[in-house]
Amino acid sequence: MIDLKFDSQGLLTAVVQDANTKQVLMLAMMNAEAVERTQETRQAHFWSRSRKCLWLKGETSGNRMDVQDIRIDCDGDAILLLVEPRGPACHTGETSCFYTEME
Ligand SMILES: [Zn+2]
Repeated sequence: MIDLKFDSQGLLTAVVQDANTKQVLMLAMMNAEAVERTQETRQAHFWSRSRKCLWLKGETSGNRMDVQDIRIDCDGDAILLLVEPRGPACHTGETSCFYTEME
């Protein structure tokens, strides 16, 4: 078991991927509490750096993410959530946050 390595602000990066289509959906930050809550509830929780609070994905939009599997990066400094999304991952309504192609 790899220990999670949180950065100096107590955070690590979370990549969120659709468990079925394998599409990369979004990137977010997690603190220890977000990891615990996600494990306990199997619902994706993150830490909002802008609002400085724990955040249940889909709390207001209803677009929750049912977590199927949690994987840890080889260095322990990033986490991968494999989820079944109940709606678009992005607040814009796009399926994935990565809908913009760089020119
Ligand atoms: Zn987005």
